[in-house]
Amino acid sequence: MPPGPITDYPLLMVLLFAIGSVVGSFLNVCIFRLPEAESIISPPSRCGSCGHQLGFIDLIPVLSALIFRFRCRYCGHRYSWQYPFVEALTGTIFLASVIVFGPTPEAAVTIVVSCSLIVIFFIDLRYLIIPDGLNAIILICGLSLDAYLLATRGWHNTAVRFQEVFPLPLGAPPTSVDALTSPIHWVYLPRSVVGMLVGAGLFLLISWAASKVFRKEAMGGGDVKLAGAMGAVLGGGYVFLAYTLLSIVLGAAVGILLIALRIRSRRDQIPFGPMMAVCGIIMLFWKDPIASFIAQLYHLP
Ligand SMILES: [Zn+2]
Repeated sequence: MPPGPITDYPLLMVLLFAIGSVVGSFLNVCIFRLPEAESIISPPSRCGSCGHQLGFIDLIPVLSALIFRFRCRYCGHRYSWQYPFVEALTGTIFLASVIVFGPTPEAAVTIVVSCSLIVIFFIDLRYLIIPDGLNAIILICGLSLDAYLLATRGWHNTAVRFQEVFPLPLGAPPTSVDALTSPIHWVYLPRSVVGMLVGAGLFLLISWAASKVFRKEAMGGGDVKLAGAMGAVLGGGYVFLAYTLLSIVLGAAVGILLIALRIRSRRDQIPFGPMMAVCGIIMLFWKDPIASFIAQLYHLP
């Protein structure tokens, strides 16, 4: 990677977007094949309508959709906007991650977690399930980034003191005053582990409360697992609180809108995973301003 911000290198930015959009094209394959337990490597992609095997030109992300106007070149079947949308979105996320975080492990984790969330969004929307493998990828990302930060920045700057897990600010290094005034022996825990426990625990509680209030299952086990995995990535403090509130507000707004527009009825189950996926990607990029806004809103210290 050359020195200086990536925005000084337009060609590199185009290349990064192109790589991202190729990955997006692979995500489209995952979205359609993972729930059916098909291989994501073979057979090669075919037109869903006429079955013609797609050539190299048809598989160029974004551009082929624009050139052939969202139609199959062989039978004229109009395909979903989802293909070029996921390709363009993934390209944008690759580019944005490196612009925001530089060529760092944070950028890599942001990219992998965002890609998993995009696949979760579409699969949960259609099949009302979240594959365990995708939650596992997010969890591993959160734990690995934390391990890297603990190794490079040290426990005092990265880990959570046991006494200030929630809802006090996280990660503050202990001051010399602590040692003088407090007889408490601080216990340090990795932020990702605390976040995972807070995330899964909080959603287990919300899911239990919601099932009592609505008298039906309002949240699935997949949502609780995803909350634990995202907790490992975001940590257990304000950022996760903000993530939870944002997801619930978005879920309520979308739910009310769908029922008001009579797209869904009151009895239909509206999956919560897509809300968590959208808000998860938002939090990855804007966690600091959103978390401090939420803290101000509730007059938290
Ligand atoms: Zn076709």
